[in-house]
Amino acid sequence: MIDLSPYRIWFVTGSQHLYGPAAIEQVRAHTQHVVDALARSKHIPVPIEYKAVATTPDEIYNVCLDANNSKNCVGLIFWMHTFSPAKMWGAGLAALKKPFLHLHTQFHRDIPWATIDMDFMNLNQAAHGDREFGYMVSRMRLNRHVVVGHWASADVQNEIGAWTRVACAWNDSQQLNVARIGDNMRHVAVTEGDKVQAQMVFGYSVNGFGVGDVVRVIDAVSESEVNDVIHEYEINYRVAEPLQRGGAQHEALRDAARIQVGLRRFLEQNRFNAFTDTFQDVHGLKQLPGVGVQRLMEEGYGFAAEGDWKTAALVRALKVMGAGLDGGTSFMEDYTYHLNEGNMQVLGAHMLEICPTIADGKPSLEIHPLGIGGKADPVRLVFNTRSGPALNASVIDLGNRFRMILNTVDVVPPQEPLPKLPVARAVWIPQPNLKTAAAAWIYAGGAHHTAFSQSVTPGQLQMFADMANVECVTIDKHTNVNDFKKELRWNEVACS
Ligand code: MN
Repeated sequence: MIDLSPYRIWFVTGSQHLYGPAAIEQVRAHTQHVVDALARSKHIPVPIEYKAVATTPDEIYNVCLDANNSKNCVGLIFWMHTFSPAKMWGAGLAALKKPFLHLHTQFHRDIPWATIDMDFMNLNQAAHGDREFGYMVSRMRLNRHVVVGHWASADVQNEIGAWTRVACAWNDSQQLNVARIGDNMRHVAVTEGDKVQAQMVFGYSVNGFGVGDVVRVIDAVSESEVNDVIHEYEINYRVAEPLQRGGAQHEALRDAARIQVGLRRFLEQNRFNAFTDTFQDVHGLKQLPGVGVQRLMEEGYGFAAEGDWKTAALVRALKVMGAGLDGGTSFMEDYTYHLNEGNMQVLGAHMLEICPTIADGKPSLEIHPLGIGGKADPVRLVFNTRSGPALNASVIDLGNRFRMILNTVDVVPPQEPLPKLPVARAVWIPQPNLKTAAAAWIYAGGAHHTAFSQSVTPGQLQMFADMANVECVTIDKHTNVNDFKKELRWNEVACS
């Protein structure tokens, strides 16, 4: 469902007329060569397009306005091949509304020691031309991502690709509609927030619907649509015996499939790419949506439970960033701990709604009672999560601003089978360790709900926070609680 193919990145090189037409021609040829290489790079998920060698304030201003007006352009790359006096860039940068990456590179990789002369020096002066540009951007207090290195290196292309994915997610966020089906879980604080401010900062809009609006669509789902979904379940999952055709609870599976089809139709009809529900408002639904929500997340929809629209939008953003990559993204909750000193771990899960993109092996489709909500037993996918590096991310509303909190974690296999646990789960060791990570997370006010990802990096979320111009704090292997508390205290001044 997430399709990055319409998106484009524009490449603009800065120069000036001081060097004469032959030098500008050379800059143009070099730029085309670099753009062709980046456009072919397997590390970069969307096409890079050559737009201009801009040599005057008017040209710069015009290309920035064109970028603003282009629906497909999700961001720009700027490179000062020669010196490009940066007062020329003021008007254009002031008008620019799209994110940009400053590529600090040069055409040649190695200094041609034996032949280098002043002509070569004048043509290839990004080493100081890019600093002039950087000064202007910093002077204007604009956020951007700076990438340093030779354009042909995999490292540089990887970083450009990572940023490109974030620019796509940012573009998606500007048009994202989040459906809040039912309100907030009663009395819960962290899932609340200022939706008007969220729209101004992140672009997405959040609107509420009664669960009855969805039930009407679910009730209109045809039996053949239900049959199709059940066939998909049979292909993709190990279906527990009571749920199988002829089994004692097969009707509950049909109810779950009907909810999935109806929920999807409701989202599609209204162009929602993220949604929330809440177990306290399921009037007219036979069971709390479990497998249906899991399948929709797998397709690319953002989701969070209990009315948590900030996390639903965040899950969607991470899904766009990670589109097509190995490793998945899910809604997640820190559920319970293993507090054995020397081996402290987190068991993450939710009542039902963990995305199968993070599953280790084939999930099993099961039905079990749910202690809360007072509805029929919900059908859900049960699985463990693949081992390896991952992260948890949370966005909270501090009243005067949003804060993003990140924690890098290492997913490990469960020490023992969990035969009685009827939900999908992940076991991880937070970095630098549970004791420090949990204390830092709590000092920062991070939510119990998170977006969990094995495809997106902390650096990418930092870029996303920069695009939104919101505070971002990271808890990783370098974190110690005292320094982290200082960072929070200083940010209180810096970000207010
Ligand atoms: Mn929850």
